[in-house]
Amino acid sequence: MLNAADFTALAAIVGEENFYSDKPHTLAYSYDATRAQREPEGVIFPRSEADVQAILRYCNSRKIAVVPRGSGSGFTGGSLSVNGGIVLALEKHMNNILEIDLENMLARVEPAVINKDFQNEVEKIGLFYPPDPASQEYCTLGGNVSENAGGMRAAKYGITKNFVLALRAVLPNGEVIRAGKKTIKDVAGYNIAGLLIASEGTLGVITELTLKLIPKPRLIKTAMGVFPSVEAAMNATYRTFAAGVTPVAMEFLDNLTIRAVEAAYKKGLPIDAGALLITEVDGNTEADISWQMETIAKIFRENGASLFYEARDAAEAAAIWFARRNASQSLKIYGANKLNEDITVPRSALPELLRRIEAIGEKYDHKIPCFGHTGDGNVHVNVMTNKQEAVRYHNAEKAITEIFEAAIALEGTLSGEHGIGLSKAPFMNMAFTKAEMELFRTIKRAIDPNDILNPGKMGL
Ligand SMILES: Cc1cc2nc3c(=O)[nH]c(=O)nc-3n(C[C@H](O)[C@H](O)[C@H](O)COP(=O)(O)OP(=O)(O)OC[C@H]3O[C@@H](n4cnc5c(N)ncnc54)[C@H](O)[C@@H]3O)c2cc1C
Repeated sequence: MLNAADFTALAAIVGEENFYSDKPHTLAYSYDATRAQREPEGVIFPRSEADVQAILRYCNSRKIAVVPRGSGSGFTGGSLSVNGGIVLALEKHMNNILEIDLENMLARVEPAVINKDFQNEVEKIGLFYPPDPASQEYCTLGGNVSENAGGMRAAKYGITKNFVLALRAVLPNGEVIRAGKKTIKDVAGYNIAGLLIASEGTLGVITELTLKLIPKPRLIKTAMGVFPSVEAAMNATYRTFAAGVTPVAMEFLDNLTIRAVEAAYKKGLPIDAGALLITEVDGNTEADISWQMETIAKIFRENGASLFYEARDAAEAAAIWFARRNASQSLKIYGANKLNEDITVPRSALPELLRRIEAIGEKYDHKIPCFGHTGDGNVHVNVMTNKQEAVRYHNAEKAITEIFEAAIALEGTLSGEHGIGLSKAPFMNMAFTKAEMELFRTIKRAIDPNDILNPGKMGL
């Protein structure tokens, strides 16, 4: 619990106008995109890296928990405070693009720059920052790095970690570290930037990022394939990559999801299809784009697609993407609550994973619509349920546990992009051995011996 002296000391660091403990603030910062609610004792808005240093130094000396926060769009409770303490909200002041360096194809940014704003800025000078989480309009780059976020374009370009050249961070004791360089290559010392990526605010507060940029491809093309079954679509996915084409995106919707989107929006989707695949390719020449599209069309047809439709213009491309972009919110026709996870497996294991999920759904008599980024093996699994019905809800939780087991048995992971936070913490022991968990805890203890930084997360 913070005492009166703590409130005074913290307000003195940032000014009264940047530290709040009133109900409207503690409530507003008690949520993220999960439906969990955890109320902090205060919310502090640092103006600079120096403020972050002073705040952490003070909180470390008093053993006050500090929860870093970007936009609070996380899906696992990572930015929620477990046992009081303060939320360190970076959004208000630390949101500037510091430099876009065309000659070296990189940019330096503060952590709370919004992903999409950054993409727009670099594209003005012909550069490209590919990581594009669906929350790109409001999530921050610091949050992206802390979760190692991915997006639709991950199949070709990779995820956030592939674009982090360097970072600055404040450790729990208030010391600033720089990790990585502006260089493409840097093999000196431990890969500390790599350690902080996906660390979910448990090891340091990221105060600056140096991000790699690439040239923006000149051409892009979108297409859709209609498949008789999920299995056929999953086979078509990995066979496309194995044939030497790397689409920018390869996204899927299963039959339950297609029906839900159609029920919600009446777009004329093929409701009897087993699955839809939406794919996008990019490049700089028409010849390259045509070759990619022709190869994909051939593979889709060989794997049973009854229809392959290539968008003729941007409006048709947007119409194709509509179903995928509105998949998540359409699912409520199947239940008031959904337990949604983002398990990921090697692409060739997708057909087996989807078979196992279907069997789990039948076992518990729960609808489990699935959609997601099949191009990178990432399936958004949604166990539809109703919190009011205790037995069904309990069964839904058992189904989720079995789905995690299936993903791990197929050499996959608990999370492809949303991280562990609070909601997946109970499953960490399923995914990691005792020795591996102890290594995580040893790292955490070495950097944060007082456990002040985002305590209670990641099962540590
Ligand atoms: C509709 C919707 C769609 C989504 N789609 C995707 C998607 O396609 N791909 C994907 O990967 N995710 C997706 N997400 C999840 C979420 O947007 C991402 O995890 C995003 O990276 C979180 O960014 P944020 O700024 O909101 O971070 P927050 O939610 O505020 O924080 C996330 C974690 O990062 C830590 N953190 C934040 N900033 C810092 C910092 N500067 N230093 C240290 N730690 C920090 C926090 O403590 C917390 O543990 C989606 C979420 C929603 C609501």
